[in-house]
Amino acid sequence: MDSLKQVDREIWQAIKEEVERQQCHLELIASENYCTPAVLEAQGSVLTNKYAEGYPNKRYYSGCDNVDVVERLAIERAKKLFGAEHVNVQPHSGSQANMAVYFAALTPEHRVLGMDITHGGHLTHGFSKNFSGQIYEAATYGVDRDTKLLDYEVIMEKARSFQPDLIIAGASAYSRAIDFSKFGEIAEEVGALLMVDMAHIAGLIAGKQHPDPVPYADFVTSTNHKTLGGPRGGFILCKAKYAAKIDQKVFPGMQGGPLMHIIAAKAVSFKEALSDGFCERQRQTVANARAMAQGLINRGYDVITGGTDNHLFLLDLTNKDINGRDAQECLAGVGIYVNKNLIPFDERGAFDTSGIRIGSAAATTRGMKEQEMDCIAGWIDRAISSPWDEEVKKAVQKEVTDFCAAFPVYQNVTMPGPLLEEGPSTEK
Ligand code: PLP
Repeated sequence: MDSLKQVDREIWQAIKEEVERQQCHLELIASENYCTPAVLEAQGSVLTNKYAEGYPNKRYYSGCDNVDVVERLAIERAKKLFGAEHVNVQPHSGSQANMAVYFAALTPEHRVLGMDITHGGHLTHGFSKNFSGQIYEAATYGVDRDTKLLDYEVIMEKARSFQPDLIIAGASAYSRAIDFSKFGEIAEEVGALLMVDMAHIAGLIAGKQHPDPVPYADFVTSTNHKTLGGPRGGFILCKAKYAAKIDQKVFPGMQGGPLMHIIAAKAVSFKEALSDGFCERQRQTVANARAMAQGLINRGYDVITGGTDNHLFLLDLTNKDINGRDAQECLAGVGIYVNKNLIPFDERGAFDTSGIRIGSAAATTRGMKEQEMDCIAGWIDRAISSPWDEEVKKAVQKEVTDFCAAFPVYQNVTMPGPLLEEGPSTEK
């Protein structure tokens, strides 16, 4: 990063500090992960210089031979990884992947039925302040008040009475396996199309640790950067009969030039996901989330649904003397990053919340296993049991920092030289 250091010291400094932050803290934000150096290299390549509106072999610019190779590889690898009939790798983000499906499947008078954001759904699943709740008539389903699980009979009833044109399955904060075949039956019964948003669980699906939505859904959307471990971005899988419509809605319907450097990084990460070891990492991710949830249950915490089938769980803090916002802040103070999150039927608002969401993907990528998850549960417990105690804070922070040193984020890899040459900064 010599050039950057010379040209723009402030940005260089911020990146340097971020490298240190990522190395010296524990990342438990469920939507985050660490991508590999190979993904970073593709993302930081000269492909960023190239305009390539259109699709391979059908571009509006000359000089696209190399980026055509890149995009074709990304598409072929994603098709193989997920067994999809058609793939579009151009959406700049998960939200844009979802938007392209809405544009392809619906017109503004249509109805959508998605999971309530206060029960774990995403903004783009019909939230009133998002395009999905503003352009379309949206209704939501939630989880059962007692079990906190999706009740497919209740969702079927809701679908029968609301008669949606598109049903959205998938979530940002639901810790149990989703039965996509049931969603397929519901959609078929009411004559709706089915979109599965697998953003959170794409890695688990690719790694055969979660039921596969592809046989049941008309459209499957995703981000690349969560459990899948790729660059920040999105993609869409669909049946062949929707291919032309999806491609047309992504470009020129919604976006201009594709980010070819990001598409190259997506291709690299799909290749990584097809390689030996990926399924095992995803298995470990689930095992780690379970171990951490159990470690917290053993220390007197309520975990929503009593555990997890995937990479995340929600900690219900209502029986503790702290809300989600303060827990998030206090954990950040000891070097553990989680996010405050509403729990289903939360009596607090989205600003303070009664819960925190905890995920295991990033910690697993660093090589941590079940026994480390139990240590982490212990630090979480100590920190949020005495949130204002400076002695406890200092002690836990030191243990977390020492622990992180044993799990380098980018092992055996020369990170951009000057970033690490000077060693971790002591002024924070
Ligand atoms: N879908 C789900 C289920 C998500 O959790 C997210 C992001 O957290 C998205 C879509 C949107 O992804 P992006 O932030 O890339 O727009």
